[in-house]
Order: sequence, then structure tokens, then C-alpha cells
Amino acid sequence: MPVLDAPAYPVVDGIAVADVDGENQTCACGNDSYAADWYAADSEGAITFDSSGSTNPDEHTLCPACGRLYRNTDLFTGTAAAVARYDTHSPAYLAALEQYERDAYGKDRS
Ligand SMILES: [Zn+2]
Repeated sequence: MPVLDAPAYPVVDGIAVADVDGENQTCACGNDSYAADWYAADSEGAITFDSSGSTNPDEHTLCPACGRLYRNTDLFTGTAAAVARYDTHSPAYLAALEQYERDAYGKDRS
């Protein structure tokens, strides 16, 4: 199994709640997916645009505001416990978000 480049992994705390139709998710930190797009992560928890829009239950969804990582399969149930939390100040995390944005939008937005 690849090693996650996430110093805080796995710190587990917090619960996300998805509304009934699964359209919106609210993170334990208060951020919801209407306020800021959540990011996708693969089955190893690595942040990647390749997993965007995935319905693969083994893949993950990331709250970019606090770095909490949730399993898709848990979000589908309506209540998801965070399985990990990235250190949102770590260079690796910020680089992963930048790469994601480049892949998603084809340019830097900074
Ligand atoms: Zn959050």
C-alpha cells in the first residue's frame, strides 16, 4: 500500500452529514459542499481530480477547509465519520490542492 503523504494521517475525529439526496455534505468543521467544492481522493486517500465525481464507495471525499477525509461509502449513508485528517498547513497538502486545481481548471487560480 502506498504511503500517504499526510503527516496527520490517520487522525480521526469529526462527523460529516449528508442531506437525504446526497447533494450537500456538511463537514464537522462547518464547511459544506455548497460553500466550497469538496475535493476527491482515491481509495488510498490521495487527493486527485481523477476521482472527481466518483461513486466508487472505496474512494474518498476531502473537505478542503479542514483536511478531513471521508469515505464515499460512509457519505452515501448520510453520516460519515472522518477517517483521516490532513495537516492543511503542510506543503504536501497545499501542493496536492494546487495540482488538483490545475487538473480541474487547467490553470492556476492563485
Ligand atoms: Zn471540514
